[in-house]
This record gives sequence, structure tokens and C-alpha cells, in this order.
Amino acid sequence: MSGKRILVLGSSFGGYHCAMNLRRLLGREHTVRVVSASPDFTFFPSLPWVVAGTKKPDSLRFDVSGNLKKAGIDFTRDTITKVEPGKNKAVGVAGEYDYDYLVAATGSELDFAAVPGLGPEAGHTHSIFGIEQAVSAQKALARVVESGSGTLSFGNAQGASCLGPVYETAMCVDSVLRKKKVRNRFKIVLFTNEPSIGHFGVGGFGAMTRMLEDEFADRDIEYLVNSKIAGVTPENIEFDGGAKIKNDFCLTVPAFYGSHAYMEAKGLANPRGFILTDDYLANQEYKNIYAVGVSLAIAPPAPTPVPVGVPKTGMMTEVMAKKAAHNIWADINNQEKIRAKDFGVVCIADGGDTAFFIGAKPLFSPRNRLIHKKGIHFHWMKEAFEKYYMVALRHGLPFPNPDFL
Ligand SMILES: Cc1cc2nc3c(=O)[nH]c(=O)nc-3n(C[C@H](O)[C@H](O)[C@H](O)COP(=O)(O)OP(=O)(O)OC[C@H]3O[C@@H](n4cnc5c(N)ncnc54)[C@H](O)[C@@H]3O)c2cc1C
Repeated sequence: MSGKRILVLGSSFGGYHCAMNLRRLLGREHTVRVVSASPDFTFFPSLPWVVAGTKKPDSLRFDVSGNLKKAGIDFTRDTITKVEPGKNKAVGVAGEYDYDYLVAATGSELDFAAVPGLGPEAGHTHSIFGIEQAVSAQKALARVVESGSGTLSFGNAQGASCLGPVYETAMCVDSVLRKKKVRNRFKIVLFTNEPSIGHFGVGGFGAMTRMLEDEFADRDIEYLVNSKIAGVTPENIEFDGGAKIKNDFCLTVPAFYGSHAYMEAKGLANPRGFILTDDYLANQEYKNIYAVGVSLAIAPPAPTPVPVGVPKTGMMTEVMAKKAAHNIWADINNQEKIRAKDFGVVCIADGGDTAFFIGAKPLFSPRNRLIHKKGIHFHWMKEAFEKYYMVALRHGLPFPNPDFL
């Protein structure tokens, strides 16, 4: 059998685990190459703690290029700008990369530009996609807290799909302020594109909505659902319908694009640049292109008054990465592929002084399994998971099986 060239784009939850699994499964006559815009793996789930000021970010980032090279995987730092499936070629800023199989694991591009005044660079809101954004948000928040009073808001913009982090950050900030005994001087508001809190882009997790309504009532966190931001000024966050929130500090999650690199090839991606796939994570038009994690197109289970995307969590991404690797191996070796889209979700949403465990399979209801529980022990579980995960990355230890439900 002639050696195949497998090109993996991205080196985070999706790309890293897919490449490592491919290398483990495939014989050495096949090459595995990773091209990624950055060699840094960031443990995103802990960034709400960074914004709340309860965690230093130093331990949350690790350069994975050494691990990949040690495993026999070629790593190149480059940003892909175009994929040409007809030529089996990906084009980057620094070079061009031929492949027999391609795995798209490039996550998202943040669409702050969709809303006037949104975002940390050209706008008046903070965000949480990466350590730099989280640290900058933490500093701005600390200044407002230092000033003695104000309105702190945390929101998901129209079209957003990564919905949990603003809940976590709002609750963590609430916990910190209560610990400092200054919570009474601040108003905290959560606004979201979801039709109800706890919807999370999947239609909710059973009674989770009621649990969060109770939680927010006890914490005096006000919330606005079905919110569509009309624009943000240095003074206010303004919504369609006329509502306004004072902009002393505002952290927002924007809508995503998949990647503009996938948009030109007909049949490869949806209009937002998310790759369309069959049940085995392969594109139907170009069967040698697979997608995992945020790069994958998943349609919402039902329409909502304001657009809400479907979240693709780190855990879901790792499950997809493993299955895509298996299916490429199966394709090459004429073995049976495994279905890969009936994944579930396991997540701990932290609240600073408590946390919520959610386990659901499949992602959309009706489900075979649903667990949601609250308790401080889940907070410690999330802390321990982060520590173990980063040690495993640094020292090559095995990762917990993400598909245990
Ligand atoms: C604040 C926050 C909190 C979260 N909390 C949780 C949680 O508690 N639990 C959970 O399960 N999930 C959580 N998530 C979601 C989780 O982080 C994502 O599901 C996960 O990062 C998706 O992995 P990915 O590999 O698909 O994409 P990413 O992690 O976004 O990685 C994309 C990779 O592609 C590379 N790349 C991007 N563009 C290009 C390009 N054009 N060319 C080449 N390379 C490119 C990047 O360098 C990177 O290596 C959270 C996310 C955030 C932001």
C-alpha cells in the first residue's frame, strides 16, 4: 500500500488529538503533518477564572509542537488561507501543503464586526478567547471593582454558540465580589441570545433552566434572554427593542465563522465557513476531507427568535478527533468506519463557590442519558481536571476517555 499524506489543520483540542491518534493508528509508511497558526495549546475552560482574578494564566498554555515532533508528526506554523479540494492542496501564508486526507480542526474566527462597537479591538467590550483577552478583561474588571461601584455585564451576541463561558464568568465574578463583601455595590447582568437561560444552543438540559433561574435569583444576577445587541458605545450596551445596560464593564462572546479558508470550494462548507459532513465526519463532496470540533457544521435543533448556534465543547471535539482518526485509518485500510455524530456532552460549568455538572447523551433531546448536579465538589473536579490535563500534555501521560457516558 502506498503511503498516504494526512494533513491536519490546527493543533488544539481537535487537531492535536486527531494527529496523535492518527499517528498511533497508522503505519509509518503514512505521514501525518500538522499545520497550525500557533503551536500553543490553551486550556480555555479555565479562562473564566482568569477574568474573575482567581487564577494566574501561566499554567494554562503549552507549546505542543515538541510533543507532535516527538511522536513522529511534522509540525509547521502557518495560517491556512485557502483549501483547494480539487487539487488536494491547502494554501497558507508561508507555503502550500499537499494531502491525500485533510482534517479541518481550525476552530473559529470571531465575528465581532457583525455588531457595531462589539469586541476588544475595534469595540467597547471585552472577551475571553485566549489568555491575552482574558487578562485584559481581568485588568479592566479590577479597575471597575477598585472604583467602588458599577454595572458588570456578561453576554452572548446574536448568533453566538459558545454560550457557557459568560454564565461561568458572571457567577465567578459574583462569588469574588461577595467574598470581598462589596457585591451590594455592583449590578451584575447576563444577556443572551438564547430563548431561555440554560438553553445552551441545544434546547436545554431538562430542569437545568429552572436550576439556573433559581441560582441567578439567589445571586441577584439579572438576566435578559432573546437579546439582540443593536450596538455598543463606551456608555451603554443597546439592544433591539430599546433596552440598555450601562457599560462600566462588559464581556461578550460573538458569533463565529468557521474559517474563510473553506468558503470558496463549492460543497465544502456552509456560508459561515463550517465544514459540512456525513455521519462519519467526512465531507460528502470531497470524501477525503474530515472536520472535527468547532470547524464542523451542526444545525440548531430548532429555530429560535434570535439566532443561537450549537456549541462544540472541548470534550465533544476530542471525541470527534478520535473518531475522525479512526475513520481515516478505516478508509485507508478498507475497514468499517464508525458513526461519529451521535456524541454526547460532559461539562462542568463553574460558579466560583459552586459548580454545575452536566452530562447528556446524545446532545439533543430526547436523550438516553441526562445528569445535572450542583455542588462545590464539581468546582474542585474542574480544577483537578485542568491540572491533570496540563500535566498530561507536558509529560505525555494518557488523557481521560472523553466518551464515557
Ligand atoms: C472561555 C471558554 C471556556 C470554555 N469552557 C469549556 C468547558 O468548560 N468545557 C468544554 O468542554 N469546552 C469548553 N470550551 C470550548 C472548547 O475550548 C472548544 O470546544 C475547543 O477549544 C474546540 O477545539 P478546536 O480544536 O475545535 O478549536 P480551537 O481550540 O479553537 O483550536 C483551533 C486551532 O486551529 C488553529 N488555527 C486557527 N485558524 C487557523 C488557520 N487558518 N490555519 C491554521 N491553523 C489555524 C489554532 O492555532 C488552533 O490550534 C470553552 C471555550 C472558551 C472560549
